[in-house]
Amino acid sequence: MNIETIAIHAGQSVDPSTGAVIPAIYPSTTFERAADGSFPGYNYTRLDNPNRAMLERCLSELEGGAGCAAFSSGQAAAMSIFQALRPGDHVIAPDDAYHGITRLLRETMVPWGLEYSAVDMTSPENVRAAIRPNTRMVWVETPSNPLLKVADIAAIAEVAHAAGALCAVDNTWGTPMLQRPLELGADLSVHSTTKYLGGHSDVLGGAAIVREAGALFERIRFIQGNSGAVPAPFDCWLTLRGVRTLPYRMRAHCENAQRVAQMLAEHPGIERVHYPGLPGHPGHAVAARQMRGFGGMLSVEVRGGQAAAMAVAAQLQIFTRATSLGGVESLVEHRASIEGPETKTPPSLLRLSVGLEHPDDLIADLEQALAAAGAA
Ligand SMILES: *Cc1c(COP(=O)(O)O)cnc(C)c1O
Repeated sequence: MNIETIAIHAGQSVDPSTGAVIPAIYPSTTFERAADGSFPGYNYTRLDNPNRAMLERCLSELEGGAGCAAFSSGQAAAMSIFQALRPGDHVIAPDDAYHGITRLLRETMVPWGLEYSAVDMTSPENVRAAIRPNTRMVWVETPSNPLLKVADIAAIAEVAHAAGALCAVDNTWGTPMLQRPLELGADLSVHSTTKYLGGHSDVLGGAAIVREAGALFERIRFIQGNSGAVPAPFDCWLTLRGVRTLPYRMRAHCENAQRVAQMLAEHPGIERVHYPGLPGHPGHAVAARQMRGFGGMLSVEVRGGQAAAMAVAAQLQIFTRATSLGGVESLVEHRASIEGPETKTPPSLLRLSVGLEHPDDLIADLEQALAAAGAA
């Protein structure tokens, strides 16, 4: 089946007891045992729940995986994957990974016992050079946040596997509509479902999807159920509701972002546009090969430094100044401010999550803001 059909039907069916077309929400925390003491269905909601099972089946099929574990946030999904490793294991991650992931590794997982190296993954050779005898996982994020660096998933998965390590891909920005890490050789595809999968900025969640059933997935499942960073039934229901329109939303996100990127690339107030859909972007060729579209995220460096960038953000009317991404509404964020003093993000950088408003209106808003800020 095609992804548009999977997004609407996988894991879901008409409820045979009521005929309801849309699944019910099961807030029950506990489920009855059969007379012989066995569980005919579910047991306890920390371990499993009908709404979570529906969401997990749907996300697993969307990624072409063998199983999915859903979490209460993207960070909880990532932490559970890192905890599936052992203290003393070494993890390689991108030097501009989502800053929450960098902080999780540096401030929680390193004290827990993981070793961690940050490398520029635009070249698989950098990953090869960082391999140690105890390297057990290469964590890829592509396109990366906020510089939209592109990493070659197939080449990096090969480097990881040659070293006996797993390859995990944070596919939050790509989504299974645009990028299929498991088909490119990765062992795990990871999501903050808070972003494009939910798609409406109203529910937090995370997911880990595995290519193969086996010991890794069993360990992640155990951590999910035993450590308990699980999503509420209503949150699973809301995420699944968002997923149904994912393929069509992603088409429009890509189309709108491409138009916005092209306009900004020609604007005198903008020094640089980071968008893999532009032919001049250093990752364009790899992105064109491994993605079905270039996504809805881009970042720009505003001429005039931080003050000019803040002035442009202040003048925008349709773009809302807020963190996060992947919702139907367009957002703008000055990343250096949220990343704090240790950030390597240029101070002139604004990150745009291009939403589903009409692209002409988004372009007009950016033009008026650049003009009002004196950047035109
Ligand atoms: C937001 C985000 C995360 C973290 O997810 P939360 O749902 O906020 O915990 C991880 N990776 C990427 C790429 C993200 O954009």
